[in-house]
Amino acid sequence: MSLEQYIRDIQGFPQEGILFKDITPLLASPNGREECLNLLLSTLKDKKIDKVVGVESRGFFFAILLADRLNAGFIPVRKPKKLPYDTISASYDLEYGKDTLEIHTDAIKKGDKVLIHDDVLATGGTAKAVCELVERLGGEIVQLNFLMELSFLNGREKLGKEEIFAAMTF
Ligand code: IMP
Repeated sequence: MSLEQYIRDIQGFPQEGILFKDITPLLASPNGREECLNLLLSTLKDKKIDKVVGVESRGFFFAILLADRLNAGFIPVRKPKKLPYDTISASYDLEYGKDTLEIHTDAIKKGDKVLIHDDVLATGGTAKAVCELVERLGGEIVQLNFLMELSFLNGREKLGKEEIFAAMTF
């Protein structure tokens, strides 16, 4: 079974006009998870990742699996007021309004080799804000990886020169 077959399209979620890519069938399948994880890991050989940064909330699932296999730390990036210790934050524009993400100030040490993971790369606004947080703490971004890239939204163009890998492209 191809990885794409584990992704379910939901029309009109969370609002009308949006075609939502649902990863829950992938999460529910041990074979699908393993195949997806191995594909992501195949691009990270000898990269000596120190920290895997996962983005709330669907980014957490595979970020934890990746951190475990890479013997790296797992660092959560969360919505405002969720993290208990000192934080820095970065805001980014949405279609209507703004959103903010936070990270603990001690989560990344200067020079740490960092992998950023989220489930979906859409317009790239989220990923760009996470890059900013990691860079402000002195982390070296080795790669951003995603389960899926929605390539028609041109998220890559918003990002810098970082290496980007997506297990699936739609
Ligand atoms: P961006 O900031 O526009 O790149 O959107 C990426 C963020 O929105 C990620 O954190 C995703 O979790 C979420 N997202 C956008 N589209 C989808 C989708 O179709 N399925 C699941 N999550 C999505």
